[in-house]
Amino acid sequence: MIIPACVSYGVVRVLEPGDVLSAPSEVSAWVLLAAIATFWLVNTVAVGAAIVTAEKQRSIAGIVGGWSANALEVVTLFLGAITAVFVQLRPWLALFLLPLVYVLHRSDSAKHLETAASTDRKTGLLNMETWRCLAEAGLRKARRHRVPTAVLMLDLDFFKRINDTHGHLFGDDVLRAVAQVISSETRRTDLVGRFGGEEFVIFLSDVSLSGATEIAERIRCAVAALEIVPGEEDSASAVSVRVTVGVACDNGYAEDDVDLSELLLSADNRLFFAKGQGRDRINAGYTRQAR
Ligand code: GH3
Ligand code: MG
Ligand code: MG
Repeated sequence: MIIPACVSYGVVRVLEPGDVLSAPSEVSAWVLLAAIATFWLVNTVAVGAAIVTAEKQRSIAGIVGGWSANALEVVTLFLGAITAVFVQLRPWLALFLLPLVYVLHRSDSAKHLETAASTDRKTGLLNMETWRCLAEAGLRKARRHRVPTAVLMLDLDFFKRINDTHGHLFGDDVLRAVAQVISSETRRTDLVGRFGGEEFVIFLSDVSLSGATEIAERIRCAVAALEIVPGEEDSASAVSVRVTVGVACDNGYAEDDVDLSELLLSADNRLFFAKGQGRDRINAGYTRQAR
């Protein structure tokens, strides 16, 4: 906070002659905008660098933050500029801004709570309650428009062995890496959730049976290509993991009356069947079609 404040003060000093600290209301609008933009830029770069170093984040949204977080930041900076002017002209008016700042930040923390309540803490994917809720709504909408949908149920193969060999903490790293692969192999509109343990679920809308099978195959190959290196060891000891997928497709015909539980059950049965056939494979079909 100190670094961006100092840099933006420096920008104001360069652009605006005179003592800006004792007469902030004299500062012209464009200099104020330049100061706000500088603060935002330096702050975003500093925080982004800290996030990249600490969390190895690679996505722009993860580093720069979402639209609403940045909007809140900019609005807070504008309020800061207004406060400075108020303090000079009518100091008691600055008190009126406090409830505004309080309400703004409360609504932001409500958003954080909402995100925390809907995601699985370990993997960052949707938790099962949220996934089910969103997938049910997605299925209802798809059936109204007679659009085909699919549920993919994924289970890591022999995951217990990884835990037993390398420890549960490394097992968690593997779960996170797999979750990241699944997210990057699916569209933003697809619903990816952690069913529990080492099982994941995906709801795809507007996708045919062959399309869903293709996506499942792409995920299976991407997971197989993963190489995760345990903590202190070198890359020669990288661990790989395989996944088995059950795919259940709904053709979207309203008269079939398929619900999400039936799709999930069908995907789970297909997963179980594929495990029995030797793992690291896909079993796909329509909900009421024999395996
Ligand atoms: P299969 O190919 O038949 O699925 O074999 P598996 O070893 O993957 O299946 P099993 O059900 O025997 O073992 C699942 C393991 O997943 C056991 C459990 O310790 C582990 N597990 C479940 N949740 C977590 C977790 O959050 N973190 C870690 N590290 N392990 C977990
Ligand atoms: Mg399992
Ligand atoms: Mg398993």
